[in-house]
Amino acid sequence: EMSVEKHVFEADVARLLHLMVHSVYSDKNVFLRELISNAADACEKLRYEAIVSPELLAGDPTPRITLTLDEENNRLIVEDNGIGMGRDELVEALGTIARSGTRAFMERIEAAQGKEGAQLIGQFGVGFYSAFMVADKVDVVSRRAGSEHAFLWSSDGKGSYTVSAAELADAPARGTRITLHLMEDTKTYTSRWTVERIVKDQSGHVPVPISILEKPDAEPVQVGDGTALWTKQKSEISKEDYADFYRGVAGQYDDPALTVHFRAEGRHEYTALAFVPGSKPFDLFDPDRKGRMKLYVKRVFITDEAELLPRYLRFVRGLVDTSDLPLNVSREMIQESPLLASIRKGVTNRVLTAIEKLAENETETFDKLWENFGSVLKEGIYEDYERREQLVALSRFRTTTSDASQRSLTDYVKDMKDGQSAIYYLTGDNLAQLKASPQLEGFRARGIEVLLLTDPVDSFWVTSAPDFDGKPWKSITQGAADLSAIAKAEGAKEEAPQASQLVIDFVAFAKETLGASVSDVRTSDRLTESAVCLVAPEHGPDRQLEKMLQGAGR
Ligand code: ADP
Ligand code: MG
Repeated sequence: EMSVEKHVFEADVARLLHLMVHSVYSDKNVFLRELISNAADACEKLRYEAIVSPELLAGDPTPRITLTLDEENNRLIVEDNGIGMGRDELVEALGTIARSGTRAFMERIEAAQGKEGAQLIGQFGVGFYSAFMVADKVDVVSRRAGSEHAFLWSSDGKGSYTVSAAELADAPARGTRITLHLMEDTKTYTSRWTVERIVKDQSGHVPVPISILEKPDAEPVQVGDGTALWTKQKSEISKEDYADFYRGVAGQYDDPALTVHFRAEGRHEYTALAFVPGSKPFDLFDPDRKGRMKLYVKRVFITDEAELLPRYLRFVRGLVDTSDLPLNVSREMIQESPLLASIRKGVTNRVLTAIEKLAENETETFDKLWENFGSVLKEGIYEDYERREQLVALSRFRTTTSDASQRSLTDYVKDMKDGQSAIYYLTGDNLAQLKASPQLEGFRARGIEVLLLTDPVDSFWVTSAPDFDGKPWKSITQGAADLSAIAKAEGAKEEAPQASQLVIDFVAFAKETLGASVSDVRTSDRLTESAVCLVAPEHGPDRQLEKMLQGAGR
């Protein structure tokens, strides 16, 4: 027999709880979505484990989630018959923060003030701990499928929690029961009308049936139909349905910028439902660059680690459901399956095509999408050889003539000067620094547009970027800039005569004085105001890439 163990929350959990309880975040309803989504995950995990161990279902194969309203005692109870948690799992799952991205989220929320911080909570799925937005005490009784033991986790969210053994009679036969002792001002969560509305709004497409019990001993009444949205016909699904489903599957609180839903038929059959989020997910720049697309086999969740999309589409959320894999498929089998390659290719094509259409038809939505994810998409220019042309054409830029990052290369080429044969660019850390660059003088004087590239990824793709419309890329900090073929704009300053004896002598003097520290000294059309500037050699890294490689210790 185990006595009551007291544990202190991991420091990050304590911080998160403090933030949540003291935030002015008004939409507390989200706690219910978080608990329901955990319950649904638990049911799906059980379904998956039961493929190999059917005895875990113990004669109760139908997954369900029930919400019991206990107005008399001011409690709301969320119960599922999913996989359940053992003692160690309770400590691990409800005492620490395992999720990547959460730390980054907390740093941002702490840096932000008041209202903005509250908004951030809304954008981010805060998970189980959000229960403490509405409850001053939370009890979790759980019994893992197949186990003879049940445990009780209990906390007031103020720094510590306890774990103890629970009587089997007081525990669900299998799964988890979460009892929320509601606060004075959150009593409304015992109202049938309120709870039903929230469930319909937020969790209408959870693939597990949800029922409400109006009182602890009342009959359960089912809310929604528990069918998987993606199996329905597109014509039966409204925009709102898609948006609700997206929020659930993506853990986002916004609207999707783009929805792609299709069924692939032929050699490989699968259904894909993919969304581009309306705002940046918090794990976008995690070093592991992992995607979050979920793989289902015949509506059973299998894994979200199958890398169904290339890394440069890691911001895409959603799922692929196929009947072409066995349910007990292993990770190795998935990776080696020709189906996976086919899914990757198919979904990537459909998503990119949809983004292209957006660029053509809904410029504003596209501009926002590009602002959020352009720097990630550009990774594809050097990672996805087959689609690099397509990705370059999709890219948008800030330039010397346009501050918004909305210039396409088609725009650029259309406005090229007579005699101009290359796409000119300048890379650097920030816009202000680039704009002040003396290297730009000669280009400005001739009215030549220069792309200003400030994303770290730019230095990498741009050196291997494919020609666009037959025009090569050229760094203006690299090699000789032969601008003599291009006329200067009227009123621009005249340059000093190029080859006067004075200049020739000076160049010779400079070469001798600087010696081995430079490879050459040249006169240039590049400058009109400044006397000198540094340029990189024609071949090899340009100045920005050189700096970055040095920074990386190479
Ligand atoms: P996330 O769902 O993103 O992992 P949460 O904070 O919502 O984060 O939940 C933390 C963990 O607690 C889950 O990953 C899961 O392991 C466990 N958990 C929470 N609720 C349940 C439940 N109803 N049944 C089983 N495990 C659960
Ligand atoms: Mg969760």
